[in-house]
Amino acid sequence: MAKQSKRQKKTRVQKAPVGIPKKEHQQRITYMFKVGSLMAAKLKPQVENNLGTFDVLSRSYLRNMELLSKKAVLKLHPNVKRTICKECHRFLLPGLTCKLRLKNYSKAKKDECDILEVSCTCGSVKRYPIGRDEGYKLFSERADVLFDPGTGPSDKP
Ligand SMILES: [Zn+2]
Repeated sequence: MAKQSKRQKKTRVQKAPVGIPKKEHQQRITYMFKVGSLMAAKLKPQVENNLGTFDVLSRSYLRNMELLSKKAVLKLHPNVKRTICKECHRFLLPGLTCKLRLKNYSKAKKDECDILEVSCTCGSVKRYPIGRDEGYKLFSERADVLFDPGTGPSDKP
């Protein structure tokens, strides 16, 4: 009996999901991200530190969005995660709430060692190696991970 059940697990075909799991949570996360980014877009570039109402609202929406995604065990898309500061939950808009710099700390100044630095107004810095692999794709954008409802995960490289 036990061997038969193990065999059944191995040969089970992955089925397409019936509906969207945790649809209400995903809708709420999407709404909070939209509102948070809209509030951040209303910030004025001339104001020092941007501590106005829009900043507070934007940060609270984005913080609630992260908390909800953790509570509902839903992963945020990497593009969404990269637009939010982990320290202060600010929406990162270049020139407004963050600064983008291209750095190269290697002595030989090789192109492979280029680093994109995103520094938030709170002082936290994120670094992304952008020169290492030009054909790099995020995990969620790779073709072998994408789900095809007809056949399951595609086998294309
Ligand atoms: Zn920050």
